[in-house]
Amino acid sequence: MGLNLAKLSGGTTAISQEMLDALKARVRGIVLTDHDEGYDAARSVWNGMIDRRPGIIVRCAGAADVMAAVDFARETGAVLSVRGGGHNIAGSAVCDNGVMVDLSPMKSVRIDPFARTARVEPGVTLGEFDREAQSFGLVTPTGINSTTGIAGLTLGGGFGWISRKFGLTADNLISTDVVTADGQLVRASEAESPDLFWAIRGGGGNFGVVTSFEFRLHRLGPEVMSGLIVYPLSQATDMLKRYREIMAAAPDELSCWFVMRSAPPLPFLPQMVHGTGIIAFAACYAGPMDAAEVAMKPLREMGQPIADVIGPHPFAGWQAVLDPLLTPGARNYWKSHSFTTLNDGAIATLVEYAGKLPSPECELACAQLGGAINRVSAKATAYPHRDIGFVLNIHTRWREPADDAECIAWARSLFESCKPYATGGVYVNFMPEEEKDRVASAYLGNSERLAAIKAKYDPHNLFRMNQNIRPTP
Ligand SMILES: Cc1cc2nc3c(=O)[nH]c(=O)nc-3n(C[C@H](O)[C@H](O)[C@H](O)COP(=O)(O)OP(=O)(O)OC[C@H]3O[C@@H](n4cnc5c(N)ncnc54)[C@H](O)[C@@H]3O)c2cc1C
Repeated sequence: MGLNLAKLSGGTTAISQEMLDALKARVRGIVLTDHDEGYDAARSVWNGMIDRRPGIIVRCAGAADVMAAVDFARETGAVLSVRGGGHNIAGSAVCDNGVMVDLSPMKSVRIDPFARTARVEPGVTLGEFDREAQSFGLVTPTGINSTTGIAGLTLGGGFGWISRKFGLTADNLISTDVVTADGQLVRASEAESPDLFWAIRGGGGNFGVVTSFEFRLHRLGPEVMSGLIVYPLSQATDMLKRYREIMAAAPDELSCWFVMRSAPPLPFLPQMVHGTGIIAFAACYAGPMDAAEVAMKPLREMGQPIADVIGPHPFAGWQAVLDPLLTPGARNYWKSHSFTTLNDGAIATLVEYAGKLPSPECELACAQLGGAINRVSAKATAYPHRDIGFVLNIHTRWREPADDAECIAWARSLFESCKPYATGGVYVNFMPEEEKDRVASAYLGNSERLAAIKAKYDPHNLFRMNQNIRPTP
């Protein structure tokens, strides 16, 4: 067969053709090695910087396949990685020369419109989920890019346009099915294995492979008041100070994020603005249109914008509105800070760096949190950041490897300059691969309990391709 699978990384057992055949015979999905068609597509992820080659990819059709793949990795000692939507910036979905559990074929979404719940498999993207849920006028809060996987997003916490109203994605979990390191399927909910249920709501993929998510749903849509208000970057400081005041008094229904970048050639922006520095406020109201008009009025009266395209839009469409700027394949390097509030120093630093972007696709994106997210105790779930108002994501994005050094240096410098104003905590889903020394900042005061639960469910750290929680010895 010409394969040398004996050298699976981390492996203690040489992989023979018989072992591979036995794995293939056990799974309902597809087992790929680097000779097979589909191998390169299966190993490619959103961030074009990630180029890893797993020894074996198990494209799972269901929970039984996940159990088979987990058994195989555990028994052979091979490194194991888990892929949901493949969006993680660190590329932790893909391992080099180990076993990759690819959940992306698991696409079922079952909405129960009467109970207002959803059963979702881990290969589902946010857009696929919204399409099903919105057919029934229902939502659960997720993220702002429709091709992101619901699995990784939920396990890290998950927030987007309607989270101030409805909480984190993880806050809307009712139960999950989890394949743990021993290859067994465990139901985790408030009633069953509550320690595991606590840990997976913010503790990432450290505890097992989730094969099914059950979510609570809420009524919203089909249209929401939403849109962008755009100003020249030269007015960013003034606008951010007004925005800060307005949002401090805003109802939970209203969320407004901002992005500073070079203006893309969007049809509603005059051509002369394209390529110049802008600040765009992106607002969404999770409630009735008449209340939205009132709540958004102060934001729409901050000054004389270049464009104001606030209006009723289909919720599912608004959820995908930034997709054209976030397509897969580009080189990406992210850094993130959390802020309780945006003080003048933070605003000045952000505006300064927005004036020296190293590539036309780089942006400083700032999410507004608070509301329902922060009314949950920091100890109630593994996600600990219940006191922050804003999350900065430095989206450094470019095309040519030759520009790596300059782009990464800009991101690191901005990150360092913002440090004095930040909380020190970090959202686990926005961490690049290199930030191993910052993992404790992701879990904060929940780190110790997480390590103890890790020791119970994964004592040998089989699930370590993530922002890793080491099991308590
Ligand atoms: C363009 C873009 C926009 C984003 N916007 C937002 C946003 O608005 N809000 C937000 O909260 N986040 C956002 N994110 C971050 C996103 O939440 C993370 O990248 C998340 O990890 C993506 O999940 P995934 O399933 O696509 O990733 P993958 O790369 O497939 O998985 C990431 C990790 O999650 C774990 N994992 C995945 N599936 C499972 C599973 N079923 N069981 C156990 N572990 C699993 C594994 O450790 C895996 O390595 C965004 C990311 C990108 C690239």
